[in-house]
Amino acid sequence: MLDWFRNLFATRQKHSLPDLAAFYEASDRLLAAVEKDLGSRAAIKFFESLIFQYLQDLMKQIQDLQIVKVSFENNRYKIESLPVGSSAQHLDLKNILRISDTEPVRRVRREEFLLLPDQKLVGGLNIREALVVHLTTGEVYFLHFRNLHPETENLVLFLEFYFKGLRTKLKQNLRLNELDQFSRDLRKNLDENIRHLRETERSLKKRSYEIHNILEISNELYSILNVNQLINSALLTIVGQLGCQKVFAVLYDPLTRKYSRKFMKGFNKEDHIVFEFEVDHPLAAFFAEQHSGLTTDRLGNEPGLETAARLFEKYGVEQVAPIYYSDRVKGIVGVGSKLHGQPLDYADQEMFSILINIISISLSNAQTYEDVKQMSFTDAMTNLNNYRYFEDRLNEELFRAQRNKGDVGLIMIDIDFFKNYNDTLGHQAGDDALRALSMVLKNTVREDDIVNRYGGEEFCIIMPGMAKSVMYIMAERIRENVEKHVFYKEHVQPAGKLTISLGGASYPMDARDFDGLVHCSDKALYASKKNGRNRFTLYDVNFENN
Ligand code: GH3
Ligand code: MG
Ligand code: MG
Repeated sequence: MLDWFRNLFATRQKHSLPDLAAFYEASDRLLAAVEKDLGSRAAIKFFESLIFQYLQDLMKQIQDLQIVKVSFENNRYKIESLPVGSSAQHLDLKNILRISDTEPVRRVRREEFLLLPDQKLVGGLNIREALVVHLTTGEVYFLHFRNLHPETENLVLFLEFYFKGLRTKLKQNLRLNELDQFSRDLRKNLDENIRHLRETERSLKKRSYEIHNILEISNELYSILNVNQLINSALLTIVGQLGCQKVFAVLYDPLTRKYSRKFMKGFNKEDHIVFEFEVDHPLAAFFAEQHSGLTTDRLGNEPGLETAARLFEKYGVEQVAPIYYSDRVKGIVGVGSKLHGQPLDYADQEMFSILINIISISLSNAQTYEDVKQMSFTDAMTNLNNYRYFEDRLNEELFRAQRNKGDVGLIMIDIDFFKNYNDTLGHQAGDDALRALSMVLKNTVREDDIVNRYGGEEFCIIMPGMAKSVMYIMAERIRENVEKHVFYKEHVQPAGKLTISLGGASYPMDARDFDGLVHCSDKALYASKKNGRNRFTLYDVNFENN
C-alpha cells in the first residue's frame, strides 16, 4: 500500500496531476484493510508511516509548504512557524510530531492563526490548511500550503478530508482495541479470581468437614461418662483419625499413686507393663509445666527425659501429650507411626492435639461424674458401699441370677453388745471399731462379694453365685476372723471380745426378690442373736412361725 502511494507521488512529480480515480480506489482498499484489522497497533503504525511518507513527499515537491506547530498555552493557541521550504528535505518530521496540545482534536480556526506575527503567513489569503493529528498521541500538526496548483490543491483538500475520516475511524478502532484489551485483562482477572474462589471454596469445604467431624467426635466423647469406656473410645478415635498403628493412654490412679491405669491399642500384651510411671516421674513434672504434646525426638532433648524418650522410641511411639485438667497431669497419651510406616505430618499432629483437648475435657467430665457417683454410693465412715448402693446392687444381682439361673447369697451381720462397747469406751472408739470391722470383712470375702454398711452397726454381704449349701463355710470364716481380730479394749465386752452375729438366706431357695431375701436373712440373724450370739444361722422357713 505504501508502495502505491510512493508510485502515486512519483507519478505526480512527473505529470504534476495525480490519477484521482486510482487514488480513490487505493484509498478504499486501504480503509477496508484498516477496518478489517480493527485498529490494531500494526495498522495504526502503518497509517502513521503513510502520513509521514505523504508529508515528506509533499514537502519535497511543493516548495511553498509551511508547517506550523500549534500548541495550547495559557488558554491560547500558540502557533509557530517551522522552517521548511528549501530545507524541507532535512526536516525531521518526527520531531515536529512530538508537539503536544491539551485539546488534541480541535480544529484551529483561521482567525486564530491570523493572529500570527509571521507576516508571510498572515498575508497569504489563498493558503490551504490541513490538520493532521498524531493518531496515537493526539498531537496536532497544521499544514499550510500556499499558492498551490489547483490540482494539487484538490489533492490536498481530498487528503485533508480523507485523513480526518480515517483518523476518526482509527480512533474508534483504537478505543475498541483498548476496550478489547481491557475486557481480555478483565476476563483474565476474572478467571484468576474464579480459580482463587474455587480453591478457597474447596479448602473451606475441607475445613468445614473437619470441624463437623471434630464436633461429632467431641459430642460422642463428651457423652461417655464411664472412664474406661471413654478412654477406649477415645483411643479408637485417635487410631481412626490419624490412621496410626498404635496408641496408648496411661491414667493416674489415686489408689496406687501412679500413672498405672493403662489402655493400649496395637501394642503387644507384654509391652503393657512398660508404660507405667511414678507420680513424681520427670515426665509428669515436664507436662505439668508444658501442657501440650510433642514428638519423641524433641522430648529426648529435654533434660531428664532422655530415658523416657528412649523408651517411647523403642516401642514406636512418635508423639506424646498430657491429659491435663484441674491443674494436674491426669494421664499421658502416645501415638505410633501411621499404618504404612510414614511419620505423622503437621496436620496429624494438629488433629492429635485437638483430640487430646477433647479427651481431657471428656475425661474431666467422666471422672467428676464417677467421683460424685462413687461418693453417693459410699459410706464416708467405713468406705464401704452404703445402703443405696446395696439396694441397687442386690436388685441387679438378683436380675442377673434370674437370667443365668444362678444363686445369690445374702448375709446380714450385727455386732454383739455394741451398745455396751460404745457406752464403755465412747463413740470415738465405737467408730474406730466399725472401721476395723469393715476391713476384716473386706479382707475375708471373695473378690466378687460385695460388702455394705446396712446402717448403724449392721452390715450385709451380697455373694453372687453362692449356693445355700456352701454359704455356711463362708459365713463361719467371717465370724472366726472377727472373733480372732483384736479390737481396741475389746475385753470390755461381755464375752471378753468383740463378736458378730450373722444370718444368711439365699436366692432362689429362700426368697425370690429383694425384700424377701432381706427379710429372710434378718430372720436368720435374729435367730443367731436369740441363740447366744457370735454365730451364723441359715434361714429356715420355720423361723416364720416364731
Ligand atoms: P445386740 O447384741 O442385741 O445387737 O446388742 P447391741 O447393743 O449391739 O444392740 P443394738 O444392735 O440394738 O445396738 C445398736 C448400738 O450400736 C446403738 C449405738 O450405740 C451403736 N451404734 C449404732 N451406730 C453407730 C455408729 O455409727 N457409731 C457408733 N459409735 N455406735 C453406733
Ligand atoms: Mg443392731
Ligand atoms: Mg448389735
